[in-house]
Amino acid sequence: MKCDFLIVGSGFAGSVLAERIANELRKDVIVIEKRNHIGGNSYDEFDDNGILIHKYGPHIFHTNDKNIVDYLSQFTDWYKYEHRVLAFSKGDYYPVPINRTTINKVFNKNFNTDEEVKNFLNQICERRNPVLNSEDVIINQVGWELFDKFFRHYTKKQWNLEPKFLSPGVCGRIKVRTNDDDRYFQDKYQIMPKEGFTKIFEKLLDNSRIKLILNKDYKEIIDEINYKYLIYTGPIDYFFDYKFGKLTYRSIHFDFINYNQVSYQPVSVVNYVDPDVPFTRVTEYKKITFQNSSTTTLSFEYPNSNGEPFYPILTDENLQRLKFYMDLALKEKNLILCGRLAEFKYYDMHQVIGRALNLYNSLIYKL
Ligand code: FAD
Ligand code: UDP
Repeated sequence: MKCDFLIVGSGFAGSVLAERIANELRKDVIVIEKRNHIGGNSYDEFDDNGILIHKYGPHIFHTNDKNIVDYLSQFTDWYKYEHRVLAFSKGDYYPVPINRTTINKVFNKNFNTDEEVKNFLNQICERRNPVLNSEDVIINQVGWELFDKFFRHYTKKQWNLEPKFLSPGVCGRIKVRTNDDDRYFQDKYQIMPKEGFTKIFEKLLDNSRIKLILNKDYKEIIDEINYKYLIYTGPIDYFFDYKFGKLTYRSIHFDFINYNQVSYQPVSVVNYVDPDVPFTRVTEYKKITFQNSSTTTLSFEYPNSNGEPFYPILTDENLQRLKFYMDLALKEKNLILCGRLAEFKYYDMHQVIGRALNLYNSLIYKL
């Protein structure tokens, strides 16, 4: 087989680059995907009860970047969806991210203004300077009581690590608020694809210049392919045969359960932040898609260390090892790394799409 670009992986990184290269550069592309479907972890499908579920956990699109929305709008229509999450602790629900309502409820206060909440947080937080890890980032904003209630145990369950061993950016993704905005994200664009994510991938890859090979690890067939450039979106340590040792990733086992009832929980996602509950998040999909149905499907998330790699674990040790791999990658001619696993970055979908579009723009000048 022969192509200009061999792309490993059909998630957003691989599929966006395949689309650009085939449609705009008019070059031949082969996409190799080891799973039996396209879309990477953003894949969605209808379950046996006719409910659209996200096979790899809840995927909510959000971005501030109009260029990314404009790009994707060629492949989908949208509906407006503002994500809201509640934390469940000791029998009560609390808004997450922590906001004024959360603080009033936990501390039995009646603050009405941002100012009052700021003053209160100033009293209970413990300033950390520099902020070196995920414990620092939360303690610095809200102090121990809120950290212990909402972050310590959820993070231990999710990562099997105390927050102090994780980069600040992990828990820092969840920005504490002093107002009563209870949306999970504050981005300008909070929208979801009308027909789901998988339909976007089908359209991205729908081009006679793109040949898709499913159910194959690229290492099984790469020797049979004559290519000019390799775009790799899988785990970087696997690419280099673990030469410098393994990077660690967190995986999740998803238990999908359909209940014969119209509704199960108050919002689409509930975070179980207490240590005695073994799962982290419970997602009710029809509350994301607004589907009408007499039953409802949920996923319960059980994090583990031995399943497929989903989350790069951002510890000092991994980041040092990553540097060796990145240095090696720079020496490889005609290799392009893109995506959450290939770059070992905690990217959201819009960030991967942005990264792929930027890479494409820099690529066309090099060819
Ligand atoms: P992936 O989607 O992982 O795609 C990589 C592809 O490469 C996979 O299909 C894989 O099978 C394939 N591959 C790997 N190795 C090989 C190989 N050796 N041979 C062939 N193929 C290979 N983002 C958001 O914006 N909002 C959210 O709400 C959100 N929620 C998330 C929830 C969970 C539980 C997870 C895990 C992620 C979430 N994300 C979310 C992040 C989102 O999934 C990623 O940003 C996005 O999927 C990354 O795209 P990618 O192409 O880099 O990687
Ligand atoms: N987190 C937490 N409690 C929460 C929500 C998040 O401790 O109620 C921490 C946890 O470490 C989590 C990280 O913040 O992994 C990032 O949360 P996010 O919801 O962005 O995780 P993702 O959607 O990527 O799984």
